[in-house]
Amino acid sequence: MAKVLIIGAGGVSRVAVKKCAMNSDVFSEIVLASRTKSKCDEIASEIKNELHVEIKTAKVDADNLDELVALIEDEKPQIVMNIALPYQDLTIMDACVKCGVDYLDTANYEHPDTAKFEYKEQWARDEAFKKVGIMALLGSGFDPGVTNVFCAYAQQYLFDEIHYIDILDCNAGDHGYAFATNFNPEINLREVSANGRYWQRDENGEGRWHETKPLEIKMQWDYPEIGVKDSYLMYHEEMESLCKNIKGLKRIRFFMTFGQSYLTHMKCLENVGMLRINEVEVNGVKVVPLQLLKELLPDPATLGERTVGKTNIGCAIEGLKDGKKKKIYIYNTCDHQACYRETGAQAVSYTTGVPAMIGAKMVLEKKWHGKGVFNMENFDAKPFMEELNKQGLPWKILEM
Ligand code: NDP
Repeated sequence: MAKVLIIGAGGVSRVAVKKCAMNSDVFSEIVLASRTKSKCDEIASEIKNELHVEIKTAKVDADNLDELVALIEDEKPQIVMNIALPYQDLTIMDACVKCGVDYLDTANYEHPDTAKFEYKEQWARDEAFKKVGIMALLGSGFDPGVTNVFCAYAQQYLFDEIHYIDILDCNAGDHGYAFATNFNPEINLREVSANGRYWQRDENGEGRWHETKPLEIKMQWDYPEIGVKDSYLMYHEEMESLCKNIKGLKRIRFFMTFGQSYLTHMKCLENVGMLRINEVEVNGVKVVPLQLLKELLPDPATLGERTVGKTNIGCAIEGLKDGKKKKIYIYNTCDHQACYRETGAQAVSYTTGVPAMIGAKMVLEKKWHGKGVFNMENFDAKPFMEELNKQGLPWKILEM
């Protein structure tokens, strides 16, 4: 029985809050706090009484350390789940250190002024977390998150050596809009329009990052329950920790599918400067074009009802077992409408919110336990994999 403080009240939070409430034997009290309290109240009002969970809402600006510390000191939660935006990761981590409370997030820290994400600044807080005797669990969504756990499970239980990993993310959902993003538009468009990168060991065994132009490399992948889709190489944060933690790895890449309409719109918006993240002045008012665009696009939290189709996210893993070559695809498929019926959110929010809850459950039940800053593959994958099957994200393994 524990109290959790969840920060952020968007699409992913809606799922995480509901899933925590459905596991009220662990999450007996939920405090939901965000910048706009009315959004917290709306989510809280959707929690059914029969779940017997105490839920309370609050307003907090998670960019403000003092506000965060005051809230944590008032509420005294056992864990803080950061489901706001990556910009808030460092302030929320620092507040957790000040208050001696465990921390979890779903996305890598990103500075608002630079479209680049890396673990450096979060890993640098390892000593501070150790000193206070608390833990941070980084990237407990689907990718990063479940994809790290799939790789850890393969390393711990299925392979003797892993050589190649391709992480594959397919959203074959259709929301009926000409253009919309399935999670926060600002974060999504910064990520997709950035240069691609993959990691590979050279002939001397030296691991090196290789940079590509945005979406320059394309391949086709046959996604189970969906079919063949063009998949584009991108940089994605879980590769930064996996290339360190999967022993013997020779190459890791990340691919994502995009529909033609998404790509055409994104290119056009980029060409006219709407993806810029630096300020421009319009009639004496300073605006960041990408932030303006975010306000114009559909809120991903409202896409649930109209999105049909499935997601398929998984890891194609190649290596050796008992001296023989082995290749598998380990994956989950998720149906947008089934997610909506259960939680009121589409599958991209669902596949992120469920692992966020499971990560917190692992920490609260001390199945994943330690002092310092951790990535998902640092722990035994088995208990998390078991929870995925129980909590709505069952996985399968395809031998290839
Ligand atoms: P939304 O934009 O729908 O929600 C973000 C929420 O955070 C909003 O309620 C917003 O408040 C709140 N927020 C923003 N800034 C602050 C602040 N300074 N203080 C307090 N609250 C704040 O995003 P999503 O739900 O789509 O995504 C949530 C997170 O999940 C993001 O970090 C995203 O990158 C991550 N994600 C991770 C994935 C994974 O697989 N690992 C996949 C998809 C998303 P307001 O309502 O006032 O704007």
